Amino acid sequence: MSEAAHPYRGVAIALATLHGKAEALTPAFAAIGARLVMAEGVDTDALGTFSGEIERGLPMLDTAIAKARLGMAATGLPLGLATEGSFGPHPVIGFLPLHRELAVLVDDTRGLVIAEWLDSQQARYGGCLLQTGDILEEAQLQRFGFPEHALIVRSEPFAPGGPVSKGIRDRSALEAAIDTCRRASLLGQAWVETDMRAHMNPTRMQQIALLAERLVSRAGACCPQCRTPGFGKTGILPGLPCADCGTPTAAVLSEVASCSACGFRDVRGRSDGLTEADPAQCDLCNP
Ligand SMILES: [Zn+2]
Ligand SMILES: [Zn+2]
Repeated sequence: MSEAAHPYRGVAIALATLHGKAEALTPAFAAIGARLVMAEGVDTDALGTFSGEIERGLPMLDTAIAKARLGMAATGLPLGLATEGSFGPHPVIGFLPLHRELAVLVDDTRGLVIAEWLDSQQARYGGCLLQTGDILEEAQLQRFGFPEHALIVRSEPFAPGGPVSKGIRDRSALEAAIDTCRRASLLGQAWVETDMRAHMNPTRMQQIALLAERLVSRAGACCPQCRTPGFGKTGILPGLPCADCGTPTAAVLSEVASCSACGFRDVRGRSDGLTEADPAQCDLCNP
């Protein structure tokens, strides 16, 4: 599709964010001539801050749509953009962190929500407990990506009203915060973790920028049947046949793209072109 034909070319889109995400989101939208309008004075944290856990899809989607709507209400624009992130241990490979980021474009002129997800294992995400006398080791600080990636320090066990320091990017401030939090702790312990707010975590900012490109690209793809924007992958179908015996396996057979407006579905082969599964994945050949 040529840039001129993008359905969101030249539009104004409300963005409610406290955490400097505009910097990461703007380039992808600027590339189609769309303008992001900052919604001033909207407290997106009122919708909840990080739980620290990977949530199920639906609550994230609802939260992102609610955030986009806050921006639309504050600016009076019929289009709104929001992102929502969650972090946790990888569901399959437990020792790897998983970062899931969602971006939504809410379009009240067409009655649409266009959503795009991004899963990444590149996250700078983690935390550690410091007992009395423990020193935060250099190797741990490097895993956190400090000081480019900011840290949060709090007392452990944490009590409401107890000391919390956020956005720490300075070594002496970090040590002072650890000291304060240990003194306030019944057990003399402090908890140190990565600050996952976008402007405090450059790795997350990069993922948001990449996600913005994908969202713009999806918003530019129109349904072949009704021309509604946002046509794209909505699911997968398992059943890739075993290369030896032809039995359907649990591996992905095809990708499904569908339209939220008219229900048109397009089932295509895998994007990597694979048509047969490794017999190692076959229940008959490799029980
Ligand atoms: Zn087989
Ligand atoms: Zn359609």
